[in-house]
Amino acid sequence: MKIAVMKETHEGETRVPLIPPTAEKLVKLGAELEIESGLGLACRYQDSAYTEVGAKIGTSREEMLKTADIVLRLRKPPIEEIELMRRGCIHVSYLDPFNEVELVDKMTESGISTISLEMIPRTTVAQKMDVLSSQANLGGYASVIIGADQLDKVLPMMTTPAGTIKPSRVFIIGVGVAGLQAIATARRLGARVEAFDTRPVVEEQVKSLGAKFVKVDLGETGQTKDGYAKALTPEQMQMQKEGMARACAQSDIVITTAQLFGRPAPRIIDRPMIAGMAPGSVIIDMAVESGGNVEGSELDKIVEIEGVKVVGLGNLPGRVAITASQMYSSNLGNFIDHFWNKEAKKFNLDLEDEIIQGALITHNGALFSEMYKSIMKK
Ligand code: NAD
Repeated sequence: MKIAVMKETHEGETRVPLIPPTAEKLVKLGAELEIESGLGLACRYQDSAYTEVGAKIGTSREEMLKTADIVLRLRKPPIEEIELMRRGCIHVSYLDPFNEVELVDKMTESGISTISLEMIPRTTVAQKMDVLSSQANLGGYASVIIGADQLDKVLPMMTTPAGTIKPSRVFIIGVGVAGLQAIATARRLGARVEAFDTRPVVEEQVKSLGAKFVKVDLGETGQTKDGYAKALTPEQMQMQKEGMARACAQSDIVITTAQLFGRPAPRIIDRPMIAGMAPGSVIIDMAVESGGNVEGSELDKIVEIEGVKVVGLGNLPGRVAITASQMYSSNLGNFIDHFWNKEAKKFNLDLEDEIIQGALITHNGALFSEMYKSIMKK
């Protein structure tokens, strides 16, 4: 079975989809592995590092796509490349399917079996292939490092002959995978950390990391069966803003990570809340790529609003590209390995499996994912 791995074309992407140790793993499974020349260069992996473990270098991008049984990538495919792939080809990448209707339609028409890695269910067995978690974890880490860099103060308490310096205060809104890592990183740097989430179940996790959970009584909130937050009512959003305003005003760094599955991110911080913060404070909007948690944040920019630095830098995992590529590549390798039939040396697209049922968006000329169909009302 031929697996083609395409070089990333998205401008500014620093991560690579496959690193040599995973290439070796796929070759050992018995796959005929072909990589595009320059695949790993963004992370300084030369072509020779892949050929040494048994991969071949593709002759041309077009030829690779035409002949592959499986195509692996990092980001969604360019729309003009869909028709190059043959019907029945399995395409595995991030897809952002809720915002890519035209692309999903094209993949359906072309008979591609499209795996959207974001849609892999958050189950224990799927943890090893969960790219959302591996990348969000690094994003959470990077957000604190950027916050510390942008702040004109130190994070830890310092007792010095020149006097005692108080620790900086960091407030984290949204305690999923990214938020937990942000708490842990800010704590390691010595900051005083507070956090909030609409899912009350995370209070214990916040406390276990040595941070304080900010309590705001929003009434009934809860989570979906997959552990995702439910959207708040407009009244609850207002109550949340009032509750958050005080914590924001006392903080040197605010990091927002709030996301709602399949929907735009909730707008949590408005301009009056920003105005309530001390000049020179920093807000990192980790949700900037999915609509933004902060009023006025701009993708890939640091803007100053009411004297507060609002950071909207995208692709935070790409700031630690080698680690992010290592984790993404490992997630991809684990996905292929999990469904690989070792005797037949073939990928088994098991339509009865719950991981495939969650992540397979298009198959055999039709939409496949029931969750996608129900959210998109198709
Ligand atoms: P996410 O990226 O979807 O959202 C980030 C956080 O924002 C969530 O904790 C969410 O509750 C919170 N949020 C949403 N609206 C908010 C608001 N208005 N104010 C404050 N916070 C708000 O989350 P994620 O990191 O992808 O995690 C989603 C769920 O999946 C969690 O329950 C997590 O524990 C679970 N999970 C399970 C596994 C596993 O078992 N394999 C792996 C990873 C994550």
